[in-house]
Amino acid sequence: MQILNFTDHRRQLLQNRYVYAVVSRRAKGLSVGINLNVDKVCNFDCPYCQVNRTVPLTDTQKLVKKEGVDVLRVQSELVHLFSLLASGDLWNVAPFNTADPSMQVLRDVSISGDGEPTACPELLNVIGVVSEQLELYQLSDVAFNLFTNATLFHKPSVQSALDALWKSGGRVWAKLDAGTQSWFERVDGTKLSLEKVTQNIIWASRQHPIVLQCMFHRFGDEAPSDAEIKAWVDRVCSIVDAGGQVEWVQIYTTARVPSDPSVLPLEKSFLQGIADSLTNALGIDSGVQITVSV
Ligand code: SF4
Repeated sequence: MQILNFTDHRRQLLQNRYVYAVVSRRAKGLSVGINLNVDKVCNFDCPYCQVNRTVPLTDTQKLVKKEGVDVLRVQSELVHLFSLLASGDLWNVAPFNTADPSMQVLRDVSISGDGEPTACPELLNVIGVVSEQLELYQLSDVAFNLFTNATLFHKPSVQSALDALWKSGGRVWAKLDAGTQSWFERVDGTKLSLEKVTQNIIWASRQHPIVLQCMFHRFGDEAPSDAEIKAWVDRVCSIVDAGGQVEWVQIYTTARVPSDPSVLPLEKSFLQGIADSLTNALGIDSGVQITVSV
């Protein structure tokens, strides 16, 4: 465990390899993230991804690619951040010192990455570290999330990691960007089977409630067709019909600079139309929260 003294915390936080933190209006406070794919490894190649994989890896990224995630370092960085939070010192460190007092509260800890975190062999151990530290720092009311593209849930090692996540009260946020295989291949840059991903989501959501994160965008002037949107609505309904506990469907569009310049955002009214179609198909009493963000 890291001992805190008069260290330059800002510098130290900036030098973190895995753990980062942002104050966000969306979260209404502080979100802590753990990047398990410093080496940018992903089995998708979404044209809307913000990770630029054409840039050569830095020495640190090459090291992580060669040696894997350093779990002790993840722990050390997380303990450092939680210690600063517990003492209140974080709010004296730039840029957190500019946060409104109402935002000076930890809301969530999320495992995500510049790639697919379930592809990381150290996922189970990192979940153990987060779970242990949340308990030690008495942060049981803080949300614990895993952001994933749901492609690897059939692997026993990933299932063990998800079990550990669920045991510690964590939640799966699964990506579901398409209704048809052809749009899936374009929007997520993959030849994997959308049906297989759907089955993975059903498997997970039958056990614990999940959140679906669903990206819709244009390719130039081309928006998702009516047939594509209907297929996506049908796919979400098929998950619910199969006993999947879908707690929340987040419909959003691209907000930051994507890797493919032809990727453009959709208007809020278009996204709202998708949300309305899903609400109608599920029924207004479905209990599924459906939100739109631009
Ligand atoms: S799954 Fe996520 S990290 Fe991977 S390419 Fe898509 S947006 Fe990027």
